[in-house]
Amino acid sequence: MTAIDSKTEFDFIVVGGGTAGCAVAGRLAENPSVKILVIEAGIGNPGDVDAITTPARAFELRDSKYDWAYKTTMIDRPEYTRVEKPNTRGKALGGSSCLNYYTWIPGSAATFDDWAAYGGDEWTWEGCREYLYKPATYHDDKKHFSPELSYIGSKGGPIPVSHSDLIPEVAGFRDALTNAWLSKGGVLTDDVHGGTMRGLWKCTNSIYDGKRSSSWMYLVGKPNVVVLSKTNSKRLLFDEDENSNKNKVVVKGVEVIGADGEPYSFFAKREVIVSSGVFESPKLLMLSGIGPRAALAQFGIEAVVDSGHVGQNLLDHPILPHVFRLKDGYGLDKHLLRAGLEKDAAVSAYRWKNKGPLTSGLLELVGLPRIDDRLARIPEYAAAKAANGGLDPFGPAGQPHFEIDFVPMFSDAFQWHIPTPAAAQGDSYLTVIVDLLRPLSKTGTVTLNSTDPLEQPKISLNFFADDLDIVAMREGVRWVDDVLTTGTGMRDIIEEDYPWPMPRSSDEAMNKMILERSQTGFHPCGTLRLGNDIGQGVVDSKLRVFGVENLRVIDASVIPVIPDCRIQNSVYMIGEKGADIIKAAYPDLYA
Ligand SMILES: Cc1cc2nc3c(=O)[nH]c(=O)nc-3n(C[C@H](O)[C@H](O)[C@H](O)COP(=O)(O)OP(=O)(O)OC[C@H]3O[C@@H](n4cnc5c(N)ncnc54)[C@H](O)[C@@H]3O)c2cc1C
Repeated sequence: MTAIDSKTEFDFIVVGGGTAGCAVAGRLAENPSVKILVIEAGIGNPGDVDAITTPARAFELRDSKYDWAYKTTMIDRPEYTRVEKPNTRGKALGGSSCLNYYTWIPGSAATFDDWAAYGGDEWTWEGCREYLYKPATYHDDKKHFSPELSYIGSKGGPIPVSHSDLIPEVAGFRDALTNAWLSKGGVLTDDVHGGTMRGLWKCTNSIYDGKRSSSWMYLVGKPNVVVLSKTNSKRLLFDEDENSNKNKVVVKGVEVIGADGEPYSFFAKREVIVSSGVFESPKLLMLSGIGPRAALAQFGIEAVVDSGHVGQNLLDHPILPHVFRLKDGYGLDKHLLRAGLEKDAAVSAYRWKNKGPLTSGLLELVGLPRIDDRLARIPEYAAAKAANGGLDPFGPAGQPHFEIDFVPMFSDAFQWHIPTPAAAQGDSYLTVIVDLLRPLSKTGTVTLNSTDPLEQPKISLNFFADDLDIVAMREGVRWVDDVLTTGTGMRDIIEEDYPWPMPRSSDEAMNKMILERSQTGFHPCGTLRLGNDIGQGVVDSKLRVFGVENLRVIDASVIPVIPDCRIQNSVYMIGEKGADIIKAAYPDLYA
């Protein structure tokens, strides 16, 4: 199948070469004599794929061959259920860092401090902070921003990040939005990285010099990492002798399905690290007999470890995308979406000069507001706040209520049921994405669909199970709608809703719209969360799986409380911190 065979011995095996997996593998490989195997289901050369490396082509990747494209139950209320496909996850070396929308943002300090109830004192803002900055190298070649911002990436991390390019084609839109935001009393910020996030932010992106930055960059120049691409994990292999002699469960390797469809087994002298992401990591544990006993029994799987939280506690941000038609000349649609002179010019500028609209991450401006005044007027909210001891249930420590993304173009990645407008329908659009950051609904689940390792697990996000989440989303949508339609500057360039009017004046119709049109913010996490013990979570503070030796989980699955923003920076942090935890456990390798 490849140059390696099953007899090759590795110190560590990382199952899933995604965002966190590559970070872990790359850091463990800093000792050149340590051998690491990375098992990756997707392609191994994402750096050669233009659609992946070109920033403004990110939306094209949804439902492509690089997308796991999961079927997902978004909403499962007594009176209304909605199942959708595709829920995007990256299938390539670098994982979802090859398909994501670039925003580089850590989250509020207070929300990380909430992790301590699950992970102990090491998992707080202060315990995570250095690792949030360690992955990146910050660039500001044009010297547009304060030199102090270099603190977000000054230690030579492999991921180049920079502020949005602020491309001239949408300068008019940016000015209008900025003025509208200010006219409503909002503030502006360039820095959300210090533990407080508030205002309209010229966002930092995992983009530099016109190219996407992804986690495979951790592996560049590391010949002691072997990547087995197009290879799916099948199950973990246990050390039967150790297990029967000493009455313990020890993992020694992994069985995979190779690119040729044949099974192969690989063994780790030290540890296996599962980094297959929030949906596949719990699936692999369950297929290997680590999970809730009764749920495993339904598939004839004997529980090696009865671990009740495996696949539970799925968190994500619900979003509500809405589209406006803008006055001609304010959007990027004709530069990026439609065939014609402007698109030809954009392609040429990118090809020959590495410049132009294709270098844009498209989410140039991101808003992080609180909407206390508006919420306070809603009786259900006031009652919930009173019942919460007077603390705001959506941001008890002053966290922002929403992340609002402003994409100056029609974006089908957020609105896949709405047809892309034709040229005759106007040349400029705005997609506004309102992302509820700390939803109250009961968490979702990932369970098995079958014992076939190639079959998708069953995913239920359980969005809007709590009515108060609908109320908060509704008021958030109304709040931003007011900024856009009545704020100075924006009100002059907004033409109309697309494709149908928003039912602004009716609570009932707004609630219905939210149930029918909301989507995932693409930030699922929590399915193998940190815990003080097996009654609370799946991994301990050192990311070791409870009840099993030589096995850790290092990816978005371990997050116990969802960060109040997009989460790639947190996932890289987990990879970096996890690698340091492993290094500390093997002083003979990493003295
Ligand atoms: C469309 C999209 C947009 C996003 N936008 C942003 C954004 O703008 N900003 C932000 O901060 N975050 C964003 N995110 C979220 C962020 O990118 C993810 O949370 C993060 O990358 C997840 O990292 P991970 O290591 O947990 O999983 P992944 O990076 O998904 O890695 C899992 C890896 O395991 C591999 N794998 C899975 N199953 C198997 C198997 N059975 N065998 C072998 N290999 C397997 C996968 O192919 C993948 O490479 C976005 C995500 C998506 C999908």
